[in-house]
Amino acid sequence: MNKEQLVNIRRELHQIPEPGFEEFKTQQYVKEKIAGMPQDFLTIEEWKTGLFVFVKGFEGHKTLGYRTDMDGLPIEENTSYSFRSQHEGMMHACGHDLHMTIALGILEHFAHNQPKDHLLFLFQPAEEGPGGAKPMLASDAFQRFKPDEMYALHIAPEYPAGTIATKPGLLFANTSELFIDLKGKGGHAAFPHTANDMVVAASHLVSQLQTIVGRNVDPLDSAVVTIGKISGGTKQNIIAETARLEGTIRTLSIDSMEKVKQRIRSLIGGIESGFDCEAFIDWGANYCQVYNNEELTQSFMDFSRERREVELVECSEAMTGEDFGYFLEDTPGVMFWLGADTPYGLHDARIEPSEAAIFTAVSHMIAFFSKNQ
Ligand SMILES: [Zn+2]
Ligand SMILES: [Zn+2]
Repeated sequence: MNKEQLVNIRRELHQIPEPGFEEFKTQQYVKEKIAGMPQDFLTIEEWKTGLFVFVKGFEGHKTLGYRTDMDGLPIEENTSYSFRSQHEGMMHACGHDLHMTIALGILEHFAHNQPKDHLLFLFQPAEEGPGGAKPMLASDAFQRFKPDEMYALHIAPEYPAGTIATKPGLLFANTSELFIDLKGKGGHAAFPHTANDMVVAASHLVSQLQTIVGRNVDPLDSAVVTIGKISGGTKQNIIAETARLEGTIRTLSIDSMEKVKQRIRSLIGGIESGFDCEAFIDWGANYCQVYNNEELTQSFMDFSRERREVELVECSEAMTGEDFGYFLEDTPGVMFWLGADTPYGLHDARIEPSEAAIFTAVSHMIAFFSKNQ
């Protein structure tokens, strides 16, 4: 595909962001694009709102997997684009529109030029939640196509386009969502003694949660506990019967994740007895770490260093969550950051990733999957 075609695909996908496992239009769009390619080497299989596309290699000694995510986010877009999201309150604010475009660009090349090894393209739904990687990995189709190696990328706002950043070993942290519901006893604001105020309980809990990172995590390890949303009560003069905290936990080690969750359980136990209320915890979506295979990452980095078209950076690990980690627990592989040059971070309503990043990734991955041919 030429640059103009790639940009068009990206802009069309950008207009139809959908939530996890509701990527109906997106799936349809991707299917139509693939239907327009030569079919001789392709086997296409739908999986929920995603797709597997197998490309038969002419030698086929092994199968190389390449995964893209597909979902958008519940964010009201605030970009300067003329091709803004047409789905109110939804936005491709994490670059998954670019990721899909890149996958289609690579796939199209190999639909025309049969690869030596088999390739398996995974269009994976629900990366942002509730998590598509784990069930896709467990699916019959994945087990049947069974790649020997897995590759994926994520756009990185902080690097210029043309940059590829990765490292062997741990790349992304362990993450978990956190939802805490508190239930006490409501009442009239003038009769506090007859009620159990969940706004007060929730406030105490928020400050106590802050002590976990400072006091319970090994200073040489790293953890983040963030409460991003707090809600409760109904009206200014009514004592709140319920409150809800919503947050996220990130840790560099699987161990710390367990420790942090243990501490949250105890603190909540304290709140329950201290405020005579009930608390319910929901850990939501949990993403395991992204751990790059040492050997494959070294060889991917060596390959990238030699190509003048890209700038390779050896980065350090990040506190971002990515469900691609599940694939890497099962299959050795590599994930890398793709520079997309924008001042705004991932999930920011203003993010405008550089479309030049698409061209970099498409040509780089075509070259990588074609090496030794
Ligand atoms: Zn995201
Ligand atoms: Zn993402």
